[in-house]
Amino acid sequence: MQRVGVFICWCGTNISSTVNIDEVVAAVKNMPGVVYSKDYQYMCSEVGQNLVKDAIKEHNLTRVVVAACSPRMHESTFRKAAKAAGLNPYLLEIANIREHCSWVHKDKKAATQKAISLTKAAVAKAILNQPLIPGEVGVEQRALVIGGGIAGIQTALDIADAGYEVDLVEKTPSIGGKMAQLDKTFPTLDCSACILTPKMVDASMHDKINIYSYSEVEEVNGFVGNFEVVIKQKARSIDMEKCTGCGICLAKCPAKTALSEFEEGLSKRAAIYTPFPQAVPNVPVIDRETCTKFRTGKCGVCAKVCPTGAIDYEQKDERLNQKYGAIIVTTGYDLINLDSFGEYQYADHPDVITGLEFERLVNAAGPTAGKLVRPSDKKKPKKVVFIQCVGSRDKSERGKSYCSKICCMYTAKHAMLLRDKYPDCEAYVFYIDVRTAGKGFEEFQRRAVENYGVNYIKGMVGKIFPTGDKLKVNGVDALSGEVLEIDADMVVLASATQAKPGASDVGRMLSISTDRDNFFTEAHPKLRPVETHCAGIYLAGACQGPKDIPETVAQASAAAAKAIGILSKSKLVNNPCVSQVDESVCSGCLACTKMCPYEAITEKMVEQKVHGKIRRRRVAEVNAALCQGCGGCTVTCRPGAIDLKGFSNKQILAEVDAICQ
Ligand code: FAD
Ligand code: SF4
Ligand code: SF4
Ligand code: SF4
Repeated sequence: MQRVGVFICWCGTNISSTVNIDEVVAAVKNMPGVVYSKDYQYMCSEVGQNLVKDAIKEHNLTRVVVAACSPRMHESTFRKAAKAAGLNPYLLEIANIREHCSWVHKDKKAATQKAISLTKAAVAKAILNQPLIPGEVGVEQRALVIGGGIAGIQTALDIADAGYEVDLVEKTPSIGGKMAQLDKTFPTLDCSACILTPKMVDASMHDKINIYSYSEVEEVNGFVGNFEVVIKQKARSIDMEKCTGCGICLAKCPAKTALSEFEEGLSKRAAIYTPFPQAVPNVPVIDRETCTKFRTGKCGVCAKVCPTGAIDYEQKDERLNQKYGAIIVTTGYDLINLDSFGEYQYADHPDVITGLEFERLVNAAGPTAGKLVRPSDKKKPKKVVFIQCVGSRDKSERGKSYCSKICCMYTAKHAMLLRDKYPDCEAYVFYIDVRTAGKGFEEFQRRAVENYGVNYIKGMVGKIFPTGDKLKVNGVDALSGEVLEIDADMVVLASATQAKPGASDVGRMLSISTDRDNFFTEAHPKLRPVETHCAGIYLAGACQGPKDIPETVAQASAAAAKAIGILSKSKLVNNPCVSQVDESVCSGCLACTKMCPYEAITEKMVEQKVHGKIRRRRVAEVNAALCQGCGGCTVTCRPGAIDLKGFSNKQILAEVDAICQ
């Protein structure tokens, strides 16, 4: 017979103002198996924990139930207390009478009844708990970072500086991400390249960092401490060992027809190209779709002019198999497509541009060598209209309901850069609200208004009409009610940010989830902001949600610290609450293998004696290291052959019985 102790927490007034604690104590006191019950104001405090520890020893408790807040908050606290008193920590159960009860109900009588039911259910379950012992697995002390923007670079540098090897996988020919495309950066207006390039160089020179550019992760298997990853290195058509980055091939390539991705399509590039002068690695790549040699078999100029014989048209994609202890996802963001925003004329008029195009136009290394001119006729603009929230905070199907967070600030930056370059050029900003919640951000935006004379107009633009060489911008000043018509030379759209289109594929490959907007989901928005629900996989930067550079870098260092926490251990402890198969009941249908999101179940053959004869039959087998204890397989299994340790079918039914009594 088990001896159960029940500990009921008030959580100050969080629980006690809605739940009558005395009634809960009285109700559970006489349950079969309960030999001790106690309530206390803050059970998680040191005094509260000591109450639990002392009672375990004094009353020889064999099971413990704590009725308090969510197990996400304090299950580990109370398990540690139980362990300290000599009890297997998995013999403890939590009844969540705060988040599941007091916080969501107002009627004290009904809430008290519910708290009693939840506590009774926990007692019924605890009686059936079995002691569990976590296993141990070794750790591959190397990290994989997917995405080479500022988030990925910072994460890789932090992990490498702590002494661990890092592979940084970047899809495009160079690391740098969107930050490499920026001119100056808010809130300090320092040059983006000046602060980013040293970090890119540090990453490329670091003896613990291997950069796989023009590469993608194709397959991920395994589990925390032991991920097995296939990296595809796309054929660059260049021998990286031989190439010196002299750039002769780029200059001589006659096929200069492709729009430069780095220049946001504002200029053309050759078929053989390095995306930007400070690219890391500084090795070109041949775009086989544009290259004449690949399209027609003719040309071959680059191979003829290359002084080191580095051009290799025969090069093939390569696949590398690597092992890692931790993975950090830093795949960044994109801007939305503006095709469905016809009222702004983006698709039809060259002088309506995005914020990122503005960054390239104003940049000394950009397509106009920093001359901020209209794309249509290369003339200097006299009036520029900036429109904020284009597609952001827009609940319609074409937009995004969230705030993109960075555009109020970069629009203020753009307007200042414009006025700095051309003090006689007028700048107008249409906005819904100006959101500047960051250190020094409000002051930055005020400078745009007070020192740079930027005209801020609260209101949205209805339509833009191209008339002659002007863009007639029609809007309403929401404060005065005045209808405005501005003859602009250029319009800059602060288009919404969005998750990378391939984010859900990356998520599926890694078994991590995405939210309704396709940004990767953190394990807890407040308490585990860089972790995912998959142990050993972390997030940093704009792949998790819109973010500026300071926030991205802070998150990158946080993710690196989490990964180092794994890599610094030689062994990891497994969660013992994993599924197990009762082979005698398993029918071998393998429905569970298809259900398991972590691919933790495989088949195996067993031998069984039937009527004196040995028969071989197929059964399911759970890999305890891969199983995350989600329980999905247990509900799929028709004969009920799979059970989750700590959450067995028997335990769940005992809980239901206790609630129904
Ligand atoms: P990214 O910069 O998007 O980098 C992600 C990287 O991952 C890219 O290199 C991408 O190619 C790679 N990648 C994607 N998918 C994969 C994959 N599957 N496998 C491998 N690699 C992959 N912020 C500021 O703080 N100050 C500013 O002044 C400022 N100005 C801005 C102006 C504009 C117009 C815009 C649009 C943004 C501005 N920002 C500014 C925001 C800034 O761009 C972001 O904060 C920053 O780029 C986020 O970095 P990241 O590494 O998370 O993402
Ligand atoms: Fe350019 Fe010709 Fe070389 Fe192709 S083969 S990259 S077209 S020079
Ligand atoms: Fe709109 Fe500003 Fe939010 Fe961007 S940051 S979506 S411009 S409110
Ligand atoms: Fe896979 Fe089942 Fe473990 Fe969930 S509980 S991870 S479905 S084996």
